[in-house]
Amino acid sequence: LTDKLQNVFKNLRSKGRLTEEDVKAALKEVKMALLEADVNFKVVKQFVKAVEERAVGVDVMNGLNPGQMVIKIVNEEMVTLMGSETTEIQMQPGKSITVIMMCGLQGAGKTTTTAKIAGKLKLKGKKPLLVACDIYRPAAIKQLQINGEKQEVDVFSMGEHHNPVDIAKASMEHAGKNGHNVVILDTAGRLHIDEDMMMELQNIKANVEVHQTLLVVDAMTGQDAVNVAKEFDEKVGIDGVVLSKMDGDTRGGAALSVKAVTGKPILYVGMGEKLSDLEQFYPDRMASRILGMGDVLTLIDKVQANLDIDEGKEKEMAARMKKGKFDFNDYLESMKQMKKMGGLSSIMGMMPGMGKQLGDMESMVDEKQLSRMEAIVLSMTLAERENPKLLNLSRKSRIARGAGVDIAVVNRFVKQFEQSQKMMKQLPGMMGGKKGRGMFG
Ligand code: GDP
Ligand code: MG
Repeated sequence: LTDKLQNVFKNLRSKGRLTEEDVKAALKEVKMALLEADVNFKVVKQFVKAVEERAVGVDVMNGLNPGQMVIKIVNEEMVTLMGSETTEIQMQPGKSITVIMMCGLQGAGKTTTTAKIAGKLKLKGKKPLLVACDIYRPAAIKQLQINGEKQEVDVFSMGEHHNPVDIAKASMEHAGKNGHNVVILDTAGRLHIDEDMMMELQNIKANVEVHQTLLVVDAMTGQDAVNVAKEFDEKVGIDGVVLSKMDGDTRGGAALSVKAVTGKPILYVGMGEKLSDLEQFYPDRMASRILGMGDVLTLIDKVQANLDIDEGKEKEMAARMKKGKFDFNDYLESMKQMKKMGGLSSIMGMMPGMGKQLGDMESMVDEKQLSRMEAIVLSMTLAERENPKLLNLSRKSRIARGAGVDIAVVNRFVKQFEQSQKMMKQLPGMMGGKKGRGMFG
């Protein structure tokens, strides 16, 4: 998905406003990419429509190119799609014990997630009790006990000869007596959606006051995970979803569709087999991950935060650059602006696909060297700054003394400057800026 989207955005070049053509063409590709990522078809359709409605005619934000502007909108819509706010497990108000029921297919990660969540709650000062309601596999009880021991939380079990409803009821009593304030029921799954399983869960709910039903789905199953979520929600009713095995899912399709299809939020994502590998779900981070555009989104934030950069100067400089007249004065000015934005190398590093192309440029703009370069330029006369060709050996050695550096450093800098002059002429186009407006202008 990542590569796909990157290509899409690379091809987006246009003027100050996003035209319908721009957006339509890009979204056609986005649509394909999302479908390939196993995002629900209906969700894709809705999504593409929402982006299109918002994007066409939108002014491209100052400092962004049209491609980045579409990314920004796609990103925002993705966040909306996944539920803008992060949801956490809520303790039931007015109750001394909050009861959470875990459900999901066999192997989805219920037992593991139960223990992971217990660890999180324990850190918050809760006293959880884990309850072994999976009576069909003796190993399941043992597994919960081992996990509970690792997390140093109590596990309640009655072996495999009682039914899950009785176990759940008995556990409530046990929890009350032992001062537990959260009870997590680890139920049995089946390989597929199955009436018995649904009945069993319904029965537990009918007999025990369950405050939150959390569904664990395997992110690697993509679209199936979403269908499973829909079924469980219809039959048992769920309050939230945990997406397990996100560490193995490179596509992110399930994450994108669950909320849209079920209306239920994703609370956590499982990021590995270890009991500490459970992360709160952040829709905005997931959107960035799905977009996979390096840190373009961070870049966009930075640009947004720096809109106050003097526009007049920018335009003037851009005009000069276009004419190939970028001199050391402009260099000083652009360094100043870059510093405001966190340095060129950090900006370039955030551009998709630019990381590797830094090459020589990187050493030139190494943050630590920036001030040294500045000192060199400041040691030049105005004439020298305007006309680098004047820089002969004696001038260079005077500048070196003035800046307190070796003459070799000055030499290298001037040479790199000439190289970057060439590069800068190409940059505005490379970065897809509005007519000559690149990172520098
Ligand atoms: P259950 O049948 O739903 O209780 O599933 P389990 O908790 O027994 O988990 C099934 C398998 O998935 C086990 O091997 C777990 O270690 C593994 N698993 C669970 N969650 C994750 C996760 O977030 N990432 C990875 N890589 N493996 C997981
Ligand atoms: Mg289990």
